[in-house]
Amino acid sequence: MSKWKIKMDLLRMIMEASKSSYPDEFGAFLRAKNKIIYELVMLPGTLSGGRSVIYNLLMKPIDFTIVGTVHSHPSGYPIPSDADIQMFSRSGDIHIIVGYPYTMNSWKAYNRRGEEIRVTLI
Ligand SMILES: [Zn+2]
Repeated sequence: MSKWKIKMDLLRMIMEASKSSYPDEFGAFLRAKNKIIYELVMLPGTLSGGRSVIYNLLMKPIDFTIVGTVHSHPSGYPIPSDADIQMFSRSGDIHIIVGYPYTMNSWKAYNRRGEEIRVTLI
């Protein structure tokens, strides 16, 4: 089974967007091809706004190139909450949480059950 990969430039963009949204959350969908995550998909209202990010990420359009979600934790710990895991289970196979201060090391990836998985930077 092939492993998930993410483009380094995209991760950088996620960190920049999370910094811009701070102290609010940032959230978006992830688009991938051949398990390489290469693009963010934004929806109106998913950019910021505390807990509503999770709610808005549940309003997913039907688009099979969307493989999961990314959102920020301004509190710092990139650990999924119960609400996050509920959202993961309904919104795809790969979910990234980035934690303040949003460096290239302050992120983790999870499957739809909220179990941590490895994602390779490329
Ligand atoms: Zn969260």
